[in-house]
Amino acid sequence: MAMTALLTGTPLSGRIAVMSGASSGMGAAAAERLAELGATVAVLARRKDRLDDIVERVEAAGGSAMAIAVDVTDRAAVQAAADQVAERFGTTDLVFNNAGVQIVSGIEELKVDDWQRQIDLNISGLMNVIAAFLPHLTDSAAQGRPADLINTSSIAATRILPRLSIYSGTKAYISQLTRLLRVELGPKMVRVAAIEPGMVDTELPDHVGNTDTSQYINDLINGIDVLQSADIAETLAFMAALPRHVNLSEITVFPTAQAL
Ligand code: NDP
Repeated sequence: MAMTALLTGTPLSGRIAVMSGASSGMGAAAAERLAELGATVAVLARRKDRLDDIVERVEAAGGSAMAIAVDVTDRAAVQAAADQVAERFGTTDLVFNNAGVQIVSGIEELKVDDWQRQIDLNISGLMNVIAAFLPHLTDSAAQGRPADLINTSSIAATRILPRLSIYSGTKAYISQLTRLLRVELGPKMVRVAAIEPGMVDTELPDHVGNTDTSQYINDLINGIDVLQSADIAETLAFMAALPRHVNLSEITVFPTAQAL
């Protein structure tokens, strides 16, 4: 069951938010919810048709949105996307750095291409987004406006999950990076945070590498009342709606019934 929307009104009015991995799952839900709460949103991912649908829905509801088809592992393309957002909407003040992939395999299987894919997206892609948008966030903060860098990590960052070593390593990187960036950027009034979700019902299991594993994860997801993308979107919106001197920095969100 999805979380009831807790926030009301337009507490994010005037905010300019960018989300990566916005064509499905948490990124898509976040874009629509933030727009509903008053933010202008730019949605980034590779599947342009999905992004266009989100923009259409946001605009139909009276909001402002733009879609940018971009592979975030391409640093120049992410920089071009940041320039496009600046030209159309102005200075980005919220970045939901969320694109990621999870591929399940044992280390001795030596699926080195899958290792690389996760490192390229979950680490290098995340860094490309930070490089392109950080100047916007520091500008926004310097003008006395809110500024949020919110990275999607995972409970995998701190837990021992079988056959997920590479994925978990990339998420541990994100959680530790977040702590370090908070120390560097907090004094400039840029809030830095990581959301570490447990199981969320999204397309993630469809990209894990083989159909048996997809089925196994989907069975786990269907076995309990897992999180929905809307739950993460509401959490994100709450973090962004807080007064700018309050930085909720490391947020673990479990489905209540999830044991491990
Ligand atoms: P989805 O698979 O639904 O979303 C992943 C998003 O990343 C899609 O929008 C996809 O869009 C985008 N993406 C993938 N590759 C690229 C790329 N090269 N360039 C740009 N965008 C890309 O899954 P979730 O919503 O679950 O995943 C969001 C984040 O949440 C990930 O970082 C994931 O690791 C994390 N997470 C998920 C959990 C879960 O249980 N679902 C638990 C904990 C963390 P497109 O294919 O169109 O490019």
